[in-house]
Amino acid sequence: MCRNERRFCRCGRNSAFLLFRDNLLYPEILLNLYCPLCQDRALWDEAIMLRDCGWILEYDIPGAQALLRQQGLKGPATPEFLFDEGYLSWQGLSPGDQEMNAALHRRLAPLIEQDLARYLEAMKGEWLRHVAELKAAGWRKAQSA
Ligand SMILES: [Zn+2]
Repeated sequence: MCRNERRFCRCGRNSAFLLFRDNLLYPEILLNLYCPLCQDRALWDEAIMLRDCGWILEYDIPGAQALLRQQGLKGPATPEFLFDEGYLSWQGLSPGDQEMNAALHRRLAPLIEQDLARYLEAMKGEWLRHVAELKAAGWRKAQSA
């Protein structure tokens, strides 16, 4: 089971859906979230922060390290490790992926009754296009997708 949470950024104008793989970390481990509109409020520190297309995630690294150790994970709790391994990361490939996915399902839902094969094909096609767009835009999780 993975916990899901929606978190607003510092300025409150944007939000992101977060993934907590295996429920290992708590929402509190993410000290701050900055969107492209409020990223300049962050005092950049690469030891505790990760930047992704204008968004900045600021982690409680000592807290994360203690929780990882408690679970027997030896990896050093760096922002990159927490993000790339999904312990505290975007739900999906970018902050808005959850909403995009839900909107896509709503939009294509009428097709299910009409033509299931076409529905599945449209879903796959739209999703691949979305991933390609994220990849081109430089989103970190999309690079290996
Ligand atoms: Zn913001």
